[in-house]
Amino acid sequence: MIRIKHLCKSFGELMVLKDVSTEIQQGEVVSIIGPSGTSIMKALWSSKRSIALAMFLLVLVVPLGALANEATALKEFESVKYNEPLLIGFLRGMPKGADLHNHVSGAIFAEYMLDAAVASNLNADMTTGAFTTSTVNTIPASRLKTDTTLMRKFLDVASMRGDYPDVNGHDLFFDAFKKFGPALGQMEYSRIMAEVVKRAKGQNVQYMELMGAVAPREAMNAAQSGLVIGGEDWEKALKTMQQRFPALMDASKTYLDKLDMDVAEQVGVPGPITDSSPIKIRYIYSTSRTGKSTDDFFAAIACGMAIMQNDHRVVGINIVSPEDDYYARQNFDTQMRMIDFLWQRMGKPNITLHAGELTLEYSPVEVMNSRIRESIEMGHAKRIGHGVSIAWEDNLAELLGKMHKEGIAVEICLTSNAGILKVSGDQHPLPLYRKARVPFTLNTDDEGINRSNLTMEFVKTVRTYQLSYVELKDIVRNSIEYAFLPGDSLYIGGNYTALRPEFAHIRGRDWQPSNMAQALMAKSEKLREEVTLERAFVEFEKKFD
Ligand SMILES: [Zn+2]
Repeated sequence: MIRIKHLCKSFGELMVLKDVSTEIQQGEVVSIIGPSGTSIMKALWSSKRSIALAMFLLVLVVPLGALANEATALKEFESVKYNEPLLIGFLRGMPKGADLHNHVSGAIFAEYMLDAAVASNLNADMTTGAFTTSTVNTIPASRLKTDTTLMRKFLDVASMRGDYPDVNGHDLFFDAFKKFGPALGQMEYSRIMAEVVKRAKGQNVQYMELMGAVAPREAMNAAQSGLVIGGEDWEKALKTMQQRFPALMDASKTYLDKLDMDVAEQVGVPGPITDSSPIKIRYIYSTSRTGKSTDDFFAAIACGMAIMQNDHRVVGINIVSPEDDYYARQNFDTQMRMIDFLWQRMGKPNITLHAGELTLEYSPVEVMNSRIRESIEMGHAKRIGHGVSIAWEDNLAELLGKMHKEGIAVEICLTSNAGILKVSGDQHPLPLYRKARVPFTLNTDDEGINRSNLTMEFVKTVRTYQLSYVELKDIVRNSIEYAFLPGDSLYIGGNYTALRPEFAHIRGRDWQPSNMAQALMAKSEKLREEVTLERAFVEFEKKFD
């Protein structure tokens, strides 16, 4: 017998079960009817082993009755999840929230790079596969369009397509940037960004934090170059940098104003793109971690934080390039101390750090014993990019507990990890984070080179880790909750079933915001995006009625 006593269940202020007590006898089928009239629980109690099953059904199915639309979408999801094309069809239309880890320069497909190279009259060096202005031992890039063999050769070195038995994925990936770099420099940056934003819009992404240019190259070079610290007099170095900030801030603002309008126009949405609906863009300032000079690193981080202080469109700092690089490893400690120093003095800005994009194949284990922890504790990372090597961290359980408690989210990039690190399936720590209730998001990283997109990241996650539709929605909610947007959250204490009272009925079919709700939305960018997402889920799920 299963005995239920005084069972209550609520969603925010909406109480769906109040003080329910009942007994289920062996062999008995019981159904609880939810407020929408949907049958929400059927527990078949036929043997001792069914106790767990019955309880599981109770916990799992009760919430569905309160959300009739979600129940029908879930049924559809379960019917398509074992067939990839069907699953793509379902997931492409599903609201995705945000892509929080996207490098613009790696998000372009090689085919479009070639178009840019041809338009810019560049040549192709078919020994290296790189575009160049040199005419020595090269052919016009346009020849690739009519020569299938040359085209295949180019695509093989400029992307992760197919198999690559003669080169490892790590080298192929990082070398790919060198192949199309010259073409990238020839393309209008707004055109590059528009490609990325349009693709995201096509996957039902509503918000992006893009790692890309936030100031003209010349202005950035002028502000960053030539800083000589000489020892560790970082106070003096910051004073030197402060004299350079005003010119950089002006240049950055003008640059982003123009980019805002140009990208919006090309995407076909009202400008500026940083505030328009249905897709909104913010920027993550990123700089390389592989330089030999830590003075240059100091200057680069200081510039990023200065831009952030001056412009709300730049919402975070990141460090990029291969983490296993010699200088990235050698300078890591100094780099973290520099970030800490500048973070303390420059408004404690949001930081996300690539950390633990490593395996034993690419790194001594000692590095992996503390890389993620130090990025959090010394580098002030509020989010971690990749986090693949987490299992090698010292005091693992304590670290995972800390990440759960402090809400330090992991930006998971499955396709990227499979291609670059050969880590996939049960080698990947996603289940470890999931078990430890560390929040995580799904991201594209470099969708052009990796030949993927955000829908496919969801498809791979579902097919590999057997996630439920309900859990998938919470992962999407993570992407806005842990975004670097300012303002209060829609949810109380990070609990997605605990909505602020003014929004208690937001998941209802015909919800309209009250005056109080509108006032709160006006005050918080994060809350606005979360409201948009919740309503997008309702509209998506209505299709399955
Ligand atoms: Zn990345």
